Amino acid sequence: MNPRPVVNWNIVGGCNYRCSYCVQKHADGVGGPDDAALERGLDVLCALPGVWEFKLSGGEPFLLKRLPDVATRLVAAGHKVSLLTNLSVSLPVIERFVAAAGDGLRTFSCSLHLEETSADAFLTKAAAVKQVLSAMPKSSFVVNHVVQPGRIGEAAELRRAFETAGLKFYPQLMRINGSPANYGLIDRWKLDRAFGDLVGPAGMNRGYSHLGKSCHAGYRYFILHPKGDAYACYPAKRHGENYLGNIYAQTFRLNDGPLACPYAVCPCTVPQNRGMVAD
Ligand code: SF4
Ligand code: SF4
Repeated sequence: MNPRPVVNWNIVGGCNYRCSYCVQKHADGVGGPDDAALERGLDVLCALPGVWEFKLSGGEPFLLKRLPDVATRLVAAGHKVSLLTNLSVSLPVIERFVAAAGDGLRTFSCSLHLEETSADAFLTKAAAVKQVLSAMPKSSFVVNHVVQPGRIGEAAELRRAFETAGLKFYPQLMRINGSPANYGLIDRWKLDRAFGDLVGPAGMNRGYSHLGKSCHAGYRYFILHPKGDAYACYPAKRHGENYLGNIYAQTFRLNDGPLACPYAVCPCTVPQNRGMVAD
């Protein structure tokens, strides 16, 4: 296994949306770093050996006004940048970010949250963003959607609409406190009909188990909390384990090698989809 190393950077904790199923709990009061802290953190991250991909998310990452600067700095250091946004900012703001990331932009992901926006408005904007990205052949575009219990039919309709428009649709099962939500018998039957063809974590995030398997978390993958704390992966942070230090305090260090997964359910799509978890 020699996959490209990846960081999931939750660069701000706050969000302008209030989705009821939010796993970040909107992280009220956890803003982005101030300029001085951001500079210290970027110094640490730009110096990571090799070419890393930084997946910038939040909360809502566009709440950090310097988000385009972050992309420019990371790409100038030889790294790549991806993004996960709720797509609520205006198209010109998105265009500025895309231009700042330039050839270093990889995956542009956006999440559809029907509690805060309509499917039609979101689809129109998503199609416009995909058009912007068409000038960047190394980038890709994905629409994420949390499939809530009792709303499987609606999610199936959304999948049809977005795929008909030529947009990749990535459904995720809802999680509560790190575990999949409780889907009843009828929901499970509907899930199978609507998404049964989406096999494995690359097709749909169902919360798989890799307990005991060798994983590159902490070594060639880690997550960054808005306060700058680094952990091997999201369950590690939840359990307060596999702490890697703080980028703003410049105490961060990577592990020397892979670990044996100690967690019953893996919500982290990156290690699973990038060949970082041994079969
Ligand atoms: S857009 Fe994302 S971060 Fe914001 S409230 Fe919704 S789920 Fe949470
Ligand atoms: S939970 Fe996922 S990312 Fe974390 S160690 Fe296990 S397999 Fe790796």
